[in-house]
Amino acid sequence: MSKFYIVATPIGNMGDITLRAIETLKSVDLILCEDTRETHKILEKYDINTSTISYHAQSKLAKVDKIFQLLEEGKNLALVSDAGTPGISDPGAMLVSKIKEKFFNLVVGVPSGTPTTKLREVQVIPIPGPSAVIAALSASGLPTHEFTFLGFLPHKKGRETLFKEIAGAKRTMVFYESPHRILKTLESLVKFCPNKKVCVARELTKIYEEFKTGLPNEILDFLIKNPDKQRGEFTVIIS
Ligand code: SAM
Repeated sequence: MSKFYIVATPIGNMGDITLRAIETLKSVDLILCEDTRETHKILEKYDINTSTISYHAQSKLAKVDKIFQLLEEGKNLALVSDAGTPGISDPGAMLVSKIKEKFFNLVVGVPSGTPTTKLREVQVIPIPGPSAVIAALSASGLPTHEFTFLGFLPHKKGRETLFKEIAGAKRTMVFYESPHRILKTLESLVKFCPNKKVCVARELTKIYEEFKTGLPNEILDFLIKNPDKQRGEFTVIIS
């Protein structure tokens, strides 16, 4: 049986990798990377000599066919993204779905009893580890017993509706944001949910890691007064 591992890698601090992730990356036949140059930094640090190929959001169907072929040949593969858990706002979710569709025929919408050709079995195995959404929630101090993860917010269509949804939400809401949109997003939070508590988690696990909690206008003022704090990677939590 071929194995297809989904391997989480650090979101900043290179020490945040599990022993199992290292063992898996060493043992597989091939590592599929979002960006091979990024992944090579980790591979070099942990003395991992496994071959790599790229697999990213723009990868063509031919690449997926190549991956199918390798699995059919009995090869074990690992999928990594540039940072964190593959498939969480990162390439990979679609590939896992396609693998399950091809090798398991378990996808919703396929009528039961549909004749299938028996293919080699492929086991999809998660190797859990860092993910910015969980790291941010865990140290935010905001309620974590129930939350909704929104990934990246849409830039245009559906954006206002989503902010209205956030304003009316009973659960904690979490999303990813880029440095060049963080002010715009906070302005929208000031407009749509001025009384909600916001926690902005910046540069998690890195030297300039910072959590800032307050009302949307307080966080916006803070970032405007401190332009250097507008840089880096952001995860935003609202409660
Ligand atoms: N798959 C990744 C994960 O599991 O966390 C997320 C990938 S997504 C393309 C990248 C976004 O995650 C960044 O734009 C940022 O919003 C968030 N992120 C990633 N690393 C972060 C960090 N160190 N601190 C805060 N947010 C981070």
